[in-house]
Amino acid sequence: MIKLTRPDCPNPRALEKGNYKHANNKEALRNAASGKCMYCESKISHVDHAHIEHIKPKAADKFPELEFVWSNLGYSCEICNGHKHDKYIADTPYIDPYAENPEAHIVFHGWVLFPKNGSERGELTITDLGLNRPELIEQRQERIEKFILAINACYRTNNETLRNAALKSLGQEALPDKEYSYAILCTLKAHDIPL
Ligand SMILES: [Zn+2]
Repeated sequence: MIKLTRPDCPNPRALEKGNYKHANNKEALRNAASGKCMYCESKISHVDHAHIEHIKPKAADKFPELEFVWSNLGYSCEICNGHKHDKYIADTPYIDPYAENPEAHIVFHGWVLFPKNGSERGELTITDLGLNRPELIEQRQERIEKFILAINACYRTNNETLRNAALKSLGQEALPDKEYSYAILCTLKAHDIPL
C-alpha cells in the first residue's frame, strides 16, 4: 500500500444522482492508483475485477450516509474488497492511502508485510484485508527475489560509475505505477540504496 492522491471527481452529478460506479469516476480513481488495488498494489487486469471501494462501509448499520461521498471512494481489487466486506471498527480505522501515508503504519520485511512501530491500525489492516494472503506472498516473493538478484549483480562490477547507474535504474522499480512498489521500496532501503 502506498500513498495515493485523490483526483478531482470528474462527475459529481452521478454521485448526486445515486450512482457511485459511473465510468468516468471509476476511470479517475483507476488512473490515480495506476490501475492497482489501493490496498494490495496488485495490478487489476480486468475492469470486471475492479471494485469501487467504500473506505468506510456503506452498510445500513455503518456509514450509509457516505455511500455517495467522493472522499469515501477508492479503487480496489475484488479480493481485498471481499476480505474487508463490512468489517470496520470506527476506533481503529483501516489505513486510508488517500488520506495518510501508509508508511507510518506498515513495513515490508522481504515479501511479508508487518505492522510498524506497534501500529494497531497497521495490524488490523493487514489481518482483515488479508494483505499477507498466500497468493500475494507468492507474487511478491518472486518479484523481490528477482530484485535482490539484480541488486547483487550491480555490485559485481568494480566500476563505480556503472554500478551507480545500474542501481539508479533499479530504483525505477519503486515508482508508484509499479506492482508491489512498496515492497520494492523497503528492499531498496534495507540494502542502503539511495532512491
Ligand atoms: Zn487488493
